[in-house]
Amino acid sequence: MMFPMAGEQALLTGLDEEQRAAVLAARGPVCVLAGAGTGKTRTITHRIAHLVGLGHVAAGQVLAVTFTQRAAGELRGRLRTLDAEAQTGTGVGAVQALTFHAAARRQLRYFWPRVIGGSWELLDSKFAVVAQAAARARIQTSTDDVRDLAGEIEWAKASLITPEQYAQAVAKSTRDVPMDAEKVATVYAGYENLKARNETHLLDFDDLLLHTAAAIENDAAVAEEFRDRYRCFVVDEYQDVTPLQQRVLQAWLGPRDDLTVVGDANQTIYSFTGATPQFLLDFSRRFPDATVVRLERDYRSTPEVVSLANRVIANARGRVAGSRLHLVGQRDPGPEPVFSEHTDEVAEAAAVARSIRKLVDSGTPAAEIAVLYRINAQSEVYEEALTEAGVAFQVRGGEGFFSRQEIRQALLALQRAPEPVLGAELPAAVRELLEPLGLTAQPPTGTRARERWEALDALADLVDEEVALRPELDLAGLVAELRLRADARHPPVVQGVTLASLHAAKGLEWDAVFLVGLTDGTLPISHALAHGPDSEAVEEERRLLYVGITRARVHLALSWALARAPGGRQGRKPSRFLSGLNPHAPAVESGSRSRRPKPGNARCRICNQRLTTPTAVMLRRCETCAADVDDELLAQLKDWRSRTCKELKVPAYVVFSDNTLIAIAESLPTDDAALVAIPGIGSRKLEQFGPDVLDLVRARK
Ligand code: ATP
Ligand code: MG
Repeated sequence: MMFPMAGEQALLTGLDEEQRAAVLAARGPVCVLAGAGTGKTRTITHRIAHLVGLGHVAAGQVLAVTFTQRAAGELRGRLRTLDAEAQTGTGVGAVQALTFHAAARRQLRYFWPRVIGGSWELLDSKFAVVAQAAARARIQTSTDDVRDLAGEIEWAKASLITPEQYAQAVAKSTRDVPMDAEKVATVYAGYENLKARNETHLLDFDDLLLHTAAAIENDAAVAEEFRDRYRCFVVDEYQDVTPLQQRVLQAWLGPRDDLTVVGDANQTIYSFTGATPQFLLDFSRRFPDATVVRLERDYRSTPEVVSLANRVIANARGRVAGSRLHLVGQRDPGPEPVFSEHTDEVAEAAAVARSIRKLVDSGTPAAEIAVLYRINAQSEVYEEALTEAGVAFQVRGGEGFFSRQEIRQALLALQRAPEPVLGAELPAAVRELLEPLGLTAQPPTGTRARERWEALDALADLVDEEVALRPELDLAGLVAELRLRADARHPPVVQGVTLASLHAAKGLEWDAVFLVGLTDGTLPISHALAHGPDSEAVEEERRLLYVGITRARVHLALSWALARAPGGRQGRKPSRFLSGLNPHAPAVESGSRSRRPKPGNARCRICNQRLTTPTAVMLRRCETCAADVDDELLAQLKDWRSRTCKELKVPAYVVFSDNTLIAIAESLPTDDAALVAIPGIGSRKLEQFGPDVLDLVRARK
């Protein structure tokens, strides 16, 4: 059924010349090499609508595949919108847009009785069978080891590597393996055996793809039936294809060449799962007749953001880098990206939270703002800073810090610890208690084990800070404080600011993006640097930064901190990827307005000595200098605070820390200006609590 010319016209307006060339290309191989935000997805959806609309192929004969459920949903949504907008009446909205796995699962269900027969069961998780295989081989494993072993098996299968080939393949790669490669190979072989020997066939997700490919490759009747059903294939984000998925795609196609692929090799950030841009880069070699279109106009980001993205990727090396495209920003100019250096992570998070607050106050919806980091454990300080700033957020691609399994286990372990420990001994005691949970002196190898380590390490840091602020804490008090913090975190809200790792941010976009924690050792991450400064692992880290930058439509902020904890040694350096990119010498932002101020040039208001601890800075005098606290007022302030936090259901620190209350009871502020001069009191707290506090001060006898 052909659609009216008006529909066709509507389809083609709103496309630039190159996009139109890709849409109008005759059926056959088409490769769109498109940078971020250049309209890749728009182009393929329009191409499908065009081919269907002109009757070149029926909607039901098109199979559009991609890699994540989210991306598949996005494709389906856009096809439906196109159908409605262009009033094509062709049912292009009914085109199948699926992940590789979902497509294979459907096909296998249909062909299985004919090609293999008997029943089969899909293994939702490899865990139990991997653990069993390890136990049979007498290999001792922790829960994390089993997860990491499962990850290795997934990578090997996605890369079409057999157990026999595993050790050699790993030696050639830049993988961090959880244990000796021979042992991994043994578990891998045992795992495959156990599945095959089971009464009902057990299939994991990778087996769905393997069996689908094999069914079509080995059975001519199956191949014919399948190929009659699907005639036209489209793949989005083709740089993410694994050798196994490519094999399936090849089986689907057979000798035909009706395939459209789009991708950006410079956004390859999933190599550790087996994804490779090789097939995208080799496309025109495999299909010499292919129409190859390059899209360079970036419709997503301002020219300022686009320029920074171009400069970051210009420094890339290696084969992938050779395919980079120079993006040309199409939007109206906007603000320059902001670079800022901070003394410590707490100050960095506080500054980011303040900027976000300002954006929200001036009308940017929270859902249009994201904070992106390299590892999930980095979310902790941002969850806290945003909670304190009263900004709702959601943690994407992972739970909030306190919901993580290892953090819940850690809190239980601390709670059950028999010995009473106090003050200065607390940080060391906590590290000792966390050691059996995985907080070893050095980070372990193995992805999952390292993630656990990073989260526990962040918790230990949090304890250090807590104890520095409240030296009187004992273990029970500390656990109570941590639980209060956990409870105070906002429940996840869909409309909040997004906190996500750079990996989880792929394909998404926001008006404002904050790229945080950009230090050498975090981005590029230290285990990538361990492979050498020019290694492929470091290049992948550079691409992560590129992906991060290109998520921003208008506002982009890049930041890093010289020390981890307030008052800590400032030994960090900004990411090597930023060198030469920051046009302005970065101003070191002081954390003076942050909850945990850092010692700097502040001097004691009593003896004029330089102040050396965060507590002293907060009090604006040496801790040892005679205090002129109005004790009665302090008691009243504490009383007011406990009523207020009960009312608001927040822990005490969200209102004011002890030190802030002491500073108020010493300096007796009588107006707003005097109140905000006290470290720890920003404009939001002034607005929320200022009137109460000033009333109390004024009412003193
Ligand atoms: P990603 O790399 O994130 O997958 P993409 O290349 O798939 O991005 P799209 O999501 O298709 O890019 O497009 C980015 C934005 O630019 C979308 O909001 C899209 O509607 C818009 N856009 C694309 N092409 C045009 C065009 N020719 N005119 C106006 N806007 C466009
Ligand atoms: Mg896209």
